[in-house]
Amino acid sequence: MKRVAIARCPDYTQENLEAAISKIAECSSFPDLEGKTVLLKPNILSDSPVEDGITTHPEFVRAVIRLCKRKGASRIIVGDSPGISTPGFFPRQCKIGEVCRQEDVQWADFFKDAREHRIPGTKSHLLLCAALDQADVLISLPKFKTHQLMYTTGSIKNLFGLVPGLHKSPCHLLYSRRESFAKLICGIYEEAKPAYALMDGIIAMEGPGPANGTTRALGLVLGSSDCPAIDFTQALMMGYKPTLVPIIRELKRRKLLDMDIEYTIEQPYVIKDFKLIKVTEKTHFMQSLALPFLTRGFMKRAQRREPAPIFSDQCHRCGKCIRICPAHALSLDGKQPIKPSIDVTKCIRCYCCHEVCPFDCITVKK
Ligand code: SF4
Ligand code: SF4
Repeated sequence: MKRVAIARCPDYTQENLEAAISKIAECSSFPDLEGKTVLLKPNILSDSPVEDGITTHPEFVRAVIRLCKRKGASRIIVGDSPGISTPGFFPRQCKIGEVCRQEDVQWADFFKDAREHRIPGTKSHLLLCAALDQADVLISLPKFKTHQLMYTTGSIKNLFGLVPGLHKSPCHLLYSRRESFAKLICGIYEEAKPAYALMDGIIAMEGPGPANGTTRALGLVLGSSDCPAIDFTQALMMGYKPTLVPIIRELKRRKLLDMDIEYTIEQPYVIKDFKLIKVTEKTHFMQSLALPFLTRGFMKRAQRREPAPIFSDQCHRCGKCIRICPAHALSLDGKQPIKPSIDVTKCIRCYCCHEVCPFDCITVKK
């Protein structure tokens, strides 16, 4: 039986964080860190201001660093690599970099010495950060958030950040359906083998996450030595039928999800009126079939039934969406008002553009 600890934590003061996180660690098989090197993987997504609620809160990261020190870790590395980051990326705006300096722990450049790994359950080899090889223990620190493509961002989806920067883009092209992308993410999980996850749900994100949703104060921290169990619990608490979430379904298919979960400290509950990404039943049904006799054309047509992103006239023309688009479906053609034009026939509905737009100019209509 897997165990998930759920604790209340009203805010990001160190006093309250320490109390909640220590209690969770006590009740949920926190790994032995004595003399070990630990890699902490927060969710940075895009280096944005703390108040936007996109990234794992820096004080949450500080509290986990301090917990690891108390547990005897000999070396602590913190790292992430947002989709459009370049070598030498350092998280300034979200303040996680500053926390690393203050706590005297190493910030890892995920581009440096990244090594190719075979991804279990797929035919792919992917570059993953060297810090993964250097660490004895990997701890995922996700934010409690929705996700336009995967419906939820959890401790397992958070591991996609182990792939350095724009090396992620081709993955969206190769694994362009929700179901196939979930396969890739679960493969990365199997390869990375995180030992523990602590989820920041003190200020969560609902609605069109992972970057353009709205913040919601939940005052919750979740912890588990089993990433599938914590992600299953998150989906349940958001109000999804967990097995409709592609990553959860893929974990179940791989027999990596044990739904017999024991809860400690607090019991899970469905959060009232939590704004979800709508699961399109029709598309979900077609995608979930994923049968070999379905032609590529059939699957493409199913994909095109998903909503394409819409660009607002308030665009600041920063070009981030164009740079990240794996399908090269976006361009600035100089027409007034100047904003990216989209070739909907090329668009694979990965919603990476929606994730990276710093000005909330991209919407995905239901
Ligand atoms: S336009 Fe946006 S949703 Fe479409 S392929 Fe490009 S990044 Fe993905
Ligand atoms: S839509 Fe957003 S990301 Fe794209 S160019 Fe405009 S402001 Fe930048």
